Amino acid sequence: MSLNAESTAFRSALEVIRAVEPRVADAIGAELADQRESLKLIASENYASPATLLAMGNWFSDKYAEGTVGRRFYAGCQNVDTVEALAAEHARELFGAAHAYVQPHSGIDANLVAFWAILADRVESPALKKAQVRQVNDLTEADWFALRRELGNQRMLGMSLDAGGHLTHGFRPNISGKMFDQRSYGTDPATGLVDYDKVAEAAREFKPLILVAGYSAYPRKVNFRIMREIADSVGATFMVDMAHFAGLVAGKVFTGDFDPVPHAHIVTTTTHKSLRGPRGGMVLCGPELAGQVDRGCPMVLGGPLPHVMAAKAVALAEARRPDFANYAQRIVDNAQALAEGLLRRGAKLVTGGTDNHLVLIDVSGYDLTGRQAEQALLDSGIVTNRNAVPQDPNGAWYTSGIRIGTPALTTRGLGTAEMDQTAELIHTVLSQTKPGESKAKYVLDPALADKVSKQASELLTGFPLYPAVDLG
Ligand code: PLP
Repeated sequence: MSLNAESTAFRSALEVIRAVEPRVADAIGAELADQRESLKLIASENYASPATLLAMGNWFSDKYAEGTVGRRFYAGCQNVDTVEALAAEHARELFGAAHAYVQPHSGIDANLVAFWAILADRVESPALKKAQVRQVNDLTEADWFALRRELGNQRMLGMSLDAGGHLTHGFRPNISGKMFDQRSYGTDPATGLVDYDKVAEAAREFKPLILVAGYSAYPRKVNFRIMREIADSVGATFMVDMAHFAGLVAGKVFTGDFDPVPHAHIVTTTTHKSLRGPRGGMVLCGPELAGQVDRGCPMVLGGPLPHVMAAKAVALAEARRPDFANYAQRIVDNAQALAEGLLRRGAKLVTGGTDNHLVLIDVSGYDLTGRQAEQALLDSGIVTNRNAVPQDPNGAWYTSGIRIGTPALTTRGLGTAEMDQTAELIHTVLSQTKPGESKAKYVLDPALADKVSKQASELLTGFPLYPAVDLG
């Protein structure tokens, strides 16, 4: 698409929206302006391409398409079939997976599909076989009651939240924690790294049905070959949630033992983080689980979002281009430059650095809570989020960490030199912020915040966001 065409497309869309509800058009325009001006270091965010964004805003949104490609519960799904099949094909080719299910609306949905596919395979199917019936509706009331109890009595082992795991990996506030008896593995207190011997020990003791790997805030690679061996040794199904680092897998930065696809029984992901697609989820698996995964709707999903599947097809096609590998490598180069810049200036980092797209600053080194640091950085034009660090004394709300990531700024074109300047800005703000009278309060000279804000926007001026889009 030419630069001019992008501008025309977005301007026209806003004009049409403005005619109905101008405040929505204004908010959309304001969001672009805000995103253009902020130094976005949120590790889970990115900027999707104009083609991906435009693929979402159309009449595919109007279509119901429950079922799977070629087997729908609604008539007239031939065009949805086209985009769903294309998205799945791109996903299979990109990740080298036997099967891809592209309907999940988000990461949490993808995980729910995976959990229930595993439960269906390992608990429900044997129960149906034992009762000699084909489907759950054919079970007696007594057998159905027994199966429901059995489904609700399974174990999961996943990474602890403070070590970087995700809420959807069996934690009580999330439905996964209510479904499963969960135990978690942490990281080595001395190094901050996953201790595979400890994971193996926990697996031997707990004997989980599912071993989960994957994280939201762990700045290192995970060896999925070793994790699979641990899962096999206790008969667990090995699931990897690669939501955060899918772009690094797609871009072949994580290969061999660090690529989850050849090692896991099932892999879930979001499509909007380092993968740079639309907001959504996806499940990859081998032929053994494919049939169960395809029952995502009606198992835990309703109708798919065809407009988002269209955008997934576009984004996955983009990720198959040779320049995506270059992008993925630059994400990691930038994260490492940011980590080195911070370390050189005296910051304390969890694990002492990074080998992926994110860096976790332990802001107790600046005598701040994560909450204070997050807000002080935001006052200074730097958008991050607070995050627990291992064994965090401030808990999950105030925290002692700031998580920063490079996928978004790398999309904008910033490189390692700019990462060093970013480290300087972050360190300046954190070292000049003083704790206030509560874990949320802090003291930061507004003039300094203003100065850093200006420096942050100067840093961005050479790297325009959606340069072709001029909203006038
Ligand atoms: N899994 C991991 C590892 C995540 O980091 C996230 C989101 O942050 C999710 C799942 C949930 O994704 P979503 O917000 O799309 O439901």
